[in-house]
Parts: sequence; structure tokens; C-alpha cells
Amino acid sequence: MISENIKRVKQAISICCKKSGRPADDVRLICVTKEASVFLMEEALASGIEDFGENRVQDAIVKYKAIGGRAVWHLIGHLQTNKARDAVKIFSLIHSVDSLRLAEEIDKQAGKAGKVQDILIQVNVSGEESKFGVPASDAGRLIEASRSFKNLDIKGLMTIAPEVADPETVRPFFRSLREMRDSIDPRWHLSMGMSNDFGVAIEEGATLVRVGRAIFRPGHFS
Ligand SMILES: *Cc1c(COP(=O)(O)O)cnc(C)c1O
Repeated sequence: MISENIKRVKQAISICCKKSGRPADDVRLICVTKEASVFLMEEALASGIEDFGENRVQDAIVKYKAIGGRAVWHLIGHLQTNKARDAVKIFSLIHSVDSLRLAEEIDKQAGKAGKVQDILIQVNVSGEESKFGVPASDAGRLIEASRSFKNLDIKGLMTIAPEVADPETVRPFFRSLREMRDSIDPRWHLSMGMSNDFGVAIEEGATLVRVGRAIFRPGHFS
């Protein structure tokens, strides 16, 4: 069941890559496991998944104890500064850095752990009030300031698009994140696209897609 879903997601990703003239290995599939048990995560690993995305540090700690270094761990949810210490121990990439205070704290904890922490800057390109992420107009300043931290390595940008019925609606948000990336560093990663909109995100340049429901929810493909 899960292996079948993973196969379909991977096929869809490679078709989108082909359509946009990109090599298939340009896009990395992050399997979002916030609603998945360790049991199902083992099944995902056995089906060829290499990257897990978790929203909450507390949940990741439990799952990490069982799975550890057999996967690459991504923090995709909001991070509170008091969880930064645990986060740097587990996560290879923190996608959700959206304030200077948080960048500062991750830098400090990474330093203590003797690690250079890879991060993405989360940008709220849609301007939706409920979403985390630095407003697009402040992103440049946050990036400049974060560059001075020696235990942080900025690898790119991340965004969460609003939930809509038609993924075409969110294309402009993905495009504006790509344009921002291109103006800063074209080699940077773009973490964008979820179950409902990863096709459009890949067409607009996503290099990391975060997919949960299409893998774990029965009947997503019908
Ligand atoms: C839950 C979540 C996803 C995955 O969403 P699906 O619709 O289940 O694919 C991706 N990114 C973030 C930040 C999430 O919280």
C-alpha cells in the first residue's frame, strides 16, 4: 500500500521533471511523517524513502530513537527557541528559520554541539496571516544577518502555499520564491510543494518536495 503510493509519487515527480526539462535527481522527495507511526516509517524506508520530514521536535525525538541515522531528518514545522538544542541533535536540515532570534539560538546550540547546522529560511510569500515565515519584504535582511553566524549554513528557501482546490492558484507564490532564490543564489534549494501541489512546485523549480498524505493516507490516489 505505502510502497505503491511511494512508487506513484516518485513516478509523478519524474514526469514533472521531464516536462520541465530537469533531470529527475534534481528533486528530492521528503516523506512527511507527522501522522505516521514508526511502523509505517519502517515500511517507507523499506520502500526506498531516505528522507523524513517532521513538524514537531518532541515527536521526532521518539521516532529518532527507533530509526536514527537510517534516514535523513528534516524539520519542516515551526521551531520554538527552547527546542533548538534538541533540534540540532536530530535534524540535518531545518526548513523553518523565520526570525533572527531563532537563527541566533540555533547558531548557539549548533556551536555547543560542535556542528554547522544547515538551514532554510522560511518565507511567507503568500502573505497569509496564519502562516509562519518571514514576510517576503524582510527576507533579505534576515538572510544577510543570518549569514554572519558561523555555525549556520543557509542552503535555501522554504515556503508553504495556502491550501487551495486548484494548485494552479498557488503557482505565483512558488514562482516568486524561485525569483527570490535566483536573485540571491541560484544554487540554493527551494523547499516547496506538498501532496496537492508538488507538480506545480516542481515546474516552478522546487528541489525539495514535502509529501505526506499522498504516501500515508489511503485513497489519496483514486
Ligand atoms: C504536513 C506538511 C506537509 C505535507 O503535507 P501533505 O499535504 O500531507 O503532503 C508539508 N510541509 C509542511 C510544512 C507540513 O506541515
